[in-house]
Amino acid sequence: MKLQYLGTAAAEAIPAVFCNCEVCRKSRELGGRHLRTRSQALVNDDLLIDFPCDAYAHALRFGIDYSKIDHCIITHTHGDHLFPWELNHLKPHNQYERGVFHVFGSEDVEAAISGPVANAKGFLQFHRVEPFEPFQIGSYRITALKAAHGTAHPYIYLIEDETGSLLYAHDTDLFPEETMEYLKRVKPALGLISLDCTEGAHEDLNYHGHMCLGRNVRCRNDLIDCGVADENTVFVLNHFSHNGLSVGYDDFCALAEPLGFVVSYDGMTVDCIAKEIAPEFSK
Ligand SMILES: [Zn+2]
Ligand SMILES: [Zn+2]
Ligand SMILES: [Zn+2]
Repeated sequence: MKLQYLGTAAAEAIPAVFCNCEVCRKSRELGGRHLRTRSQALVNDDLLIDFPCDAYAHALRFGIDYSKIDHCIITHTHGDHLFPWELNHLKPHNQYERGVFHVFGSEDVEAAISGPVANAKGFLQFHRVEPFEPFQIGSYRITALKAAHGTAHPYIYLIEDETGSLLYAHDTDLFPEETMEYLKRVKPALGLISLDCTEGAHEDLNYHGHMCLGRNVRCRNDLIDCGVADENTVFVLNHFSHNGLSVGYDDFCALAEPLGFVVSYDGMTVDCIAKEIAPEFSK
């Protein structure tokens, strides 16, 4: 299994739409990995995670043909993860010769896309997902886990198939107790864990709903302690805001890589190889 990051920013992108702060100025100047669009990812070539306002730009930039992808799981309803207006274009006469586009998410997503579902007249189908109840999309076994974030029913997703497994954890703070209990009980052997790093290099934050580098270290320790990760698990930090500390790509790599984290960038592809967790890590 592989995961490609299509967009790696928080709500306002980097550079932020209307901003001229130092991070935004420098990212405009340097370009490349310093430019981050809104959050979306692609598993292999056939499963989308989120459909944000930058989804169309991702298709153009990375050569993705959405007419050939039928499934999308949505984490939550913030605009940097879900842009319902675009889904109206699944209506007849705006698309030809494609099957149904299936969208999966919580009841919040169902409410957010009810208009497009009606307009698309059978070409857009919503599937409500309940937390901690695995479901199947093709060869993928997917489980929504509860996130700690500012919408009514936000999810992070556990995605597994015969070749690998990953935990896509955006947007969330340190995981809710129910989610940690589930992971402890089920013990998926995760090849890749993608953690929210909206606030960059801070040790801690005075609010809840996102993480920073200090919280990422604590989250990694918690996941190792509960037996779903070990020293070989790849931890990616992703979903950056220009308001975070030292979030410029080069600056942040210099801080996070020595701690063993991979720093995401738009277009990055990583393997999520399933592996046995070493017994000394599995408590
Ligand atoms: Zn977000
Ligand atoms: Zn800025
Ligand atoms: Zn959010």
